[in-house]
Amino acid sequence: MTHTTFHFPRGFLWGTATASHQVEGKNTQNNWWAWEQTPGHIQNNHTSGLACDWWGGRWREDLDRAAAAGQNAHRLSIEWSRIQPAPDRWDENALDRYIEILRGLSERKMTPLVTLHHFTDPLWLAELGGWGNERVVEYFNAYVGKVVEALREYTKLWVTINEPNVLYISAYLMGIWPPGEQSLKACLQVMTNLVRAHAAAYHTIHRIQPQARVGMAINYRPLHPLRSWSPLDRGAARIYSQMFNEFFPTALHSGSLRFPFWRRRVPEAKGTQDYLGVNYYTRDYVTANLGKLTSAVEKPRFPPGSDVSPSGMFANMPDGIFRAVKWALKFKVPVILTENGIEDADDRIRPRYLIQHIHQLWRAVNFNFPVQGYFHWTLVDNFEWERGWTQRFGLWELDLETQARRKRSSADLYAEICRENGLSTDMVRRYAPEIFASMFPE
Ligand code: BGC
Repeated sequence: MTHTTFHFPRGFLWGTATASHQVEGKNTQNNWWAWEQTPGHIQNNHTSGLACDWWGGRWREDLDRAAAAGQNAHRLSIEWSRIQPAPDRWDENALDRYIEILRGLSERKMTPLVTLHHFTDPLWLAELGGWGNERVVEYFNAYVGKVVEALREYTKLWVTINEPNVLYISAYLMGIWPPGEQSLKACLQVMTNLVRAHAAAYHTIHRIQPQARVGMAINYRPLHPLRSWSPLDRGAARIYSQMFNEFFPTALHSGSLRFPFWRRRVPEAKGTQDYLGVNYYTRDYVTANLGKLTSAVEKPRFPPGSDVSPSGMFANMPDGIFRAVKWALKFKVPVILTENGIEDADDRIRPRYLIQHIHQLWRAVNFNFPVQGYFHWTLVDNFEWERGWTQRFGLWELDLETQARRKRSSADLYAEICRENGLSTDMVRRYAPEIFASMFPE
């Protein structure tokens, strides 16, 4: 009988990732809160409400759980609208609250990874045109400077902007997120502003904290033509991949913005990543519709027989995480898996999803690819944007009515992985026996 353990390097970061609006609750000063109040914007008209009540103090019990489950790191985000509720007002109490949480992490011996922007904007910024207004670069930079001055003692690992690619596509091209725009022109302007804002933030953070490690987190999806024989589908996959996967990290690597028939130089962006954060969930298949650009990606499509999540939105395609790391090598910086997970309220797929993804990540590590950490999405079920509470990604289940948490079996599995700093055949046998034979053929 096969017995082996796939070990990870010493000091590897194991954690979960969260984001302010999704866990804190009552973020009434941001654009998402306002957006949620309009019927039709969020599935089942759900709202974020109290979320996981982290602002009410429940971050303590959740981080206790994470620490007791062997996690040595945690990724969280700072809510801009709390720090700067009006253009001319800083809320020092809010900053103190984040200091308390970061101290809480250090008391639990967990390394923080702090995201400065995770999809939400202060209402006042939204009223000034949000990411479409060129002045967002200076506004964001001022906010970043304020936060980094206050938190520099407690972390040196920063994500400037989470998934700029999901933000510009969802909010400015597909229009399913605030401000609900559907314009390629607006989208290109936002893409430019996001790159410039990242670059300014990178330089500001390094000025305040020279030893900082600064990156951003890209949502990487290997995109394939749905009909591999079709030149149209192949073209759509190529163009979409350029816009979704390549655009942002390439700009930070080369200092130039590249889009078919459109180029711009942004010299200040060149070399502004100390590592690349990669969020990987699933592969995707693209088909061309000449009538509507975004229809290529509106509905996820997977080959028949795929191992898909209950909503059909995510498929368990673990080799994609290996590909993601391999793809990231061209940017010549270390890689941190800043998000990976699947929605699965009944925890039926998650154990094998987790095992297979960690196994593929180990393969990457074993090739000596510079992977430094893995953050599972997420610790406790939280508010999933336009999908509201319909999708459950947590290692712990949340009962929204009572705020009670209930552990899913995957939480125990992940705890074993974190404690072992590796994955063993024994774990596979106990948590996902159905994949044992295909993973370890005799
Ligand atoms: C985002 C998270 C989100 C997760 C699952 C990622 O794109 O960064 O905020 O909850 O996907 O939908």
